[in-house]
Amino acid sequence: MTLRAHPSNGVGRSVVVRVPAKINLYLSIGPRRPDGFHELMTVFLAVSMYDQLTASPADGLSLSVRGEGATLVPLDAGNLAWQAAALLAEYAGVPADASLELVKEIPVAAGLAGGSADAAAALVACDELWGTGLNRATLLELAGRLGSDVPFLLHGGMALGTGRGELLTPVLATGEWHWVLALAEGQLSTTEVYAELDRLRGDQPVPPRPPERLINGLRVRDSRAVAKALSNDLQPAALSLRPALRATLREGEHLGAYAGLVSGSGPTCAFLVDSASAAVRLAAALAGAGVCRTVRIVHGPVHGARRVPASPAPG
Ligand code: ATP
Repeated sequence: MTLRAHPSNGVGRSVVVRVPAKINLYLSIGPRRPDGFHELMTVFLAVSMYDQLTASPADGLSLSVRGEGATLVPLDAGNLAWQAAALLAEYAGVPADASLELVKEIPVAAGLAGGSADAAAALVACDELWGTGLNRATLLELAGRLGSDVPFLLHGGMALGTGRGELLTPVLATGEWHWVLALAEGQLSTTEVYAELDRLRGDQPVPPRPPERLINGLRVRDSRAVAKALSNDLQPAALSLRPALRATLREGEHLGAYAGLVSGSGPTCAFLVDSASAAVRLAAALAGAGVCRTVRIVHGPVHGARRVPASPAPG
C-alpha cells in the first residue's frame, strides 16, 4: 500500500489520543456460540472517564503505563494496546515502530472496558503516527478482531451492540445522562463472570432480547422509564462472585439514584441520577457510606477514541 508518510503531514511527531470508558445500560446474553463467545444484545454508553495514549516515533515497539491500576497491566504483547499496534502494523505492512505511553484513569478489570479502550486508542494513534490512513470501516474491522468491545470504544456515543457486541448501530439519545460510578476494591475477571453465568443458568440459555423499552426511554428522555429498563444479565453472576456489591447497589438507590446496576462484568456499579448536581450529592453520600473504594462522577454520551492536542512540554 502507499503511505501518506511525509514530514509535512505530521507523520513522525507524537500523537495523543484520548479514549473513554463504557458502561452497559443493557446487556442481554444468549447462548454460548460454537466459537466460545456468547450471542448478546447490549446498549453501550461512552462516559467521561478517560485513558490517554501517546504514540511517539521509535525503533521497535515499547509500552509504559502509569495511573490507575498501572501495576496490574502487562507491558508486553499481553497488553491490548500493544496487540492493536502490532495488528495495525501487520495489516498495513509497516514496521511496528512506536513508543506507547499509557496514562490510565479507567480502573483495570472493573467492567468499564479499559483494555478495549486502550486498544481503540492505539489503533487511532498508530494509524496517525505511521500515516497508514486506514478508513473508518477498516479500523472498525481490526477493532473487532482485537475484542468485542473495541469497536464501540472507537465509535463512542451510545450504540446498540449485537453479535458478540462488535456489530454496532447508533442509538439516538436526547441530551446528557449523568451517572455516579462506585469503584470497588479488587477486580473481577470477565471470563470468570461468564463462567458463573453459565453455571447459574444451567442448560436454559435463551436468545438475547432487544432493548426496546430502554431505547424508547432514551429517545424521549424519560429518566424513570430508562431507570426501569436498565438491565444486565451478568449482574447475578457478578453478585454471586462478589456478594458485597448488593449493599453498594442498595445504598445507591436508597441515597436517591433512579436506579443502579453492575457495569458489564463488574465490580463497578453505575447509578443513574437526573442532573450534574444530583450526581455530586449522591457521590458524596455514597463515599460517606463506606460501600465502595471510591466514587466517580461521569456523563455520557461522549466521543470515542480521538486525537487531542499534545499538552505543552513542562516549563
Ligand atoms: P471488559 O469489560 O472489556 O471485559 P474490563 O473492563 O472488566 O473488561 P480490562 O480493564 O479491560 O477489564 O482488563 C481486563 C484484563 O485485561 C486485565 O486482567 C488486564 O491485565 C488485561 N489487559 C490487557 N491490556 C490492558 C490494558 N491496556 N488496560 C487494562 N487491562 C489490560
